[in-house]
Amino acid sequence: MSNYVYADYAAATPVDPRVIEAMKPYQTDFFGNPSSIHSFGRVTSDAVNNATKTIAKFLNTKEGEIVYTSCGTESNNLAILGVAKANKDRGRHIVTSVIEHPSILNACRALEKDGWEVTYLPVKSDGLIDAKLLENAIKKETVLVTIHLANSEIGVVQDIAKLARISNKKGALFHTDACQAAAYLDLNVKTLGVDLLTINGSKMYGPKGIAVLYVREGISIFPIFYGGSQQKSLRSGTENVPGIVGLAKSCKIATEQQTKDSKRISALRDNLEKELVKLPGVQVNCVDTIRLPNHLSVMLNNSKATNLVEAFDTHGIAVSSGSACSAKTIVESYVLRSIGLTSEQIHKTVRISLGRQTTDTEIKKIAVVAKAI
Ligand SMILES: *Cc1c(COP(=O)(O)O)cnc(C)c1O
Repeated sequence: MSNYVYADYAAATPVDPRVIEAMKPYQTDFFGNPSSIHSFGRVTSDAVNNATKTIAKFLNTKEGEIVYTSCGTESNNLAILGVAKANKDRGRHIVTSVIEHPSILNACRALEKDGWEVTYLPVKSDGLIDAKLLENAIKKETVLVTIHLANSEIGVVQDIAKLARISNKKGALFHTDACQAAAYLDLNVKTLGVDLLTINGSKMYGPKGIAVLYVREGISIFPIFYGGSQQKSLRSGTENVPGIVGLAKSCKIATEQQTKDSKRISALRDNLEKELVKLPGVQVNCVDTIRLPNHLSVMLNNSKATNLVEAFDTHGIAVSSGSACSAKTIVESYVLRSIGLTSEQIHKTVRISLGRQTTDTEIKKIAVVAKAI
């Protein structure tokens, strides 16, 4: 894979070697169950406590407000189903947006089957949610608003502080899915003003199989798993100690290099964008909106390639597309559809997402291949 260019960091990030180093002892020597009261357990429960300190600092939370889960999907489900269960007597209405990750949308659809009402807010062609629409959608039965910080397909960053303020003012709790943002944006929950927040290791150079749900102290939430009462019974199951240690390391690294990374990577993105728009008929999606620094969603104008991801792959470049072919049908991206793209435009769209390992040479190669296919 040495000459292969990876430009799909929004789908998965490689694990930082420093993260692997930090995890190693907990894969081998320190294997004890953190709930055990002997010294094998003490070593790992201390490791979990230290990791929690680091993550709490990264998010500016108290340590008791951090809940570990197995993935972003689980954190999002716990936020939605857990808050819904605990607050069902207060009201049965949730507000979200049409461009959320399936782990949000499908959890909401499951609640609809149980008699809940869900409002799916549209987005404008710039990918942003209209704050006024949100304000009007919240009623006294609304227990939760869940809107993601940054979108994985178009990279658009929502004004979460504003949306959270509006929601809280009208009496609803606010959750944000920040999975795409953790490596680049400030996730201080006080500045964001959120009550719940999701991050996962696999999108921030951390380990797979570990994620966090921040749950503000004092809010009502019920578990969705039942078991041995770990994590104050909110998420039973033996803690994934190596995963937790690794996630803490990736948070620490993000704190240290977020600003520098964002600057370097957005410069590479801007250069690539400049090269691509020189080609006839090429258009960048949501170009005037605040986007993630590593993200580029672009409509190419290729007549030759029928499948852009395959065409790039043939030339040794991994990107992602606006449509996925399942067995027989072509599933078009609901996100691209929501910003007003036609089928034809969706099929011409590729997502190029850059990361810490992306180089200037790679950017040049992507531009050359985009021209050739
Ligand atoms: C990847 C992702 C998820 C799901 O995370 P998993 O760890 O794969 O379950 C949720 N939301 C967003 C925005 C994501 O990018």
